[in-house]
Amino acid sequence: MKTLAIMGGEPVVKTPLQFYKSVGDRERLEVQKVLDSGCLSGYVGAWGDAFDGGPAVKEFESNWRQVFKCNYAIAVNSATSGLYAAIGACGVGPGDEVIVPPYTMSATAMAPLVYGGIPVFCDIEADTFCLDPDLVRKEITPKTKAIIAVNLFGHAAKLRELRQIADEHGLYLIEDNAQGPFATENDVFAGTIGHIGIFSLNYHKHIHTGEGGMCVTQDEQLALKLRLIRNHGENAAIPAGLTDLTNMVGFNYRLTEMSAAVGIAQLAEAQTHLQGREETARKLSLTIKDFKGLTPPMVRENCRHVYYVWAMKFDKNEIGVSRDTFSKALFAEGFPNYVGYVKPLYMLPMFQKKIAFGAKGFPFNLSQREYYEGMCPVVERMHSEQLIWFPNCVYQPSHKLDDELCQAITKVYESRAVLRDLENKDSLSCAGSGNRN
Ligand SMILES: *Cc1c(COP(=O)(O)O)cnc(C)c1O
Repeated sequence: MKTLAIMGGEPVVKTPLQFYKSVGDRERLEVQKVLDSGCLSGYVGAWGDAFDGGPAVKEFESNWRQVFKCNYAIAVNSATSGLYAAIGACGVGPGDEVIVPPYTMSATAMAPLVYGGIPVFCDIEADTFCLDPDLVRKEITPKTKAIIAVNLFGHAAKLRELRQIADEHGLYLIEDNAQGPFATENDVFAGTIGHIGIFSLNYHKHIHTGEGGMCVTQDEQLALKLRLIRNHGENAAIPAGLTDLTNMVGFNYRLTEMSAAVGIAQLAEAQTHLQGREETARKLSLTIKDFKGLTPPMVRENCRHVYYVWAMKFDKNEIGVSRDTFSKALFAEGFPNYVGYVKPLYMLPMFQKKIAFGAKGFPFNLSQREYYEGMCPVVERMHSEQLIWFPNCVYQPSHKLDDELCQAITKVYESRAVLRDLENKDSLSCAGSGNRN
């Protein structure tokens, strides 16, 4: 057997990984059109023709509606803005509860707070890493107003079931679909099953506009509120015909014409961008499918996983070495990987100290909810023991790279006895892997 790179052997991955560059001629052309027009933003913050932005924003939204089969698409300058607008549009107010998973990018849980809402953290399923519908049911109280489901790593949460729960209880289901464009559940696009779905267009996501986001909905009234919150709603709510002025404090969440132009091109090429990543992920999953102690990411029946991240589960007892050692050995072979994903969000100082706005504890002082270690055991286990992930979306995929990554993981797995000896000798140096929060 070849010597492990962590012990001085030759790394399997020979070519350094290239960061994915998806921007090309098509983007250049679209941006050039905007530059030639001289109008870099078509927005005016008052009700009227220019309230919804310029031609590139409108074209981008129209294309998005067609591609994702939804009635309304509202472009924003980030998914974070989109989530905040969604919470506002759903009428969440001080003390209202919003059920969220703790295993996600922090913005998911910040969104309720912005309107004085209380994030209620609910545990995930150990196979999909997404909200567990049965546990969601248990968290519903008369104060609950909405659920934010996150389609984590590019795989749909149990969206139909969550939508059913929401409808049964008169709640809104918001989908944080930042990581899952083109993911599907039963041929329906993730992002379009909830009342509002949010997509991210930041540089690290599947398709991007540098910074940007998109909100989608089938509901005319929600769409109107999203548009108002995006663009100084306080000025426009009455002329727009709104009678309920809840949460009409408007922001400036407007996407520029140049970003929208890039988005038009990115959306047109999206399937090409996704394809290579899905192939990498499928090959990795196939490689480890019979490796006892490693579990490839689950793809539920009739779902499309778009693999923003390829995440496997690691069983220390089966493998016989610690997750850190395994991860470092993989890293040394040239396979970039991280352990744990994010710390459960309720462990953030904001929740532990219950300080968000001002010094008096608002909005936590409106709630009896507590945030403590142990509240979501599945998430904690994934974070501290089980998850190893590859940032699939970040790299330029190629068949050669796929092969080398698969060989790297096979080599490390097959050398686990060697790693075990090494660990017993307690002589491991820190080889560069880490916990990337
Ligand atoms: C990236 C991401 C966001 C935030 O996206 P931005 O466009 O950077 O604001 C929100 N939620 C999840 C799950 C994400 O991965």
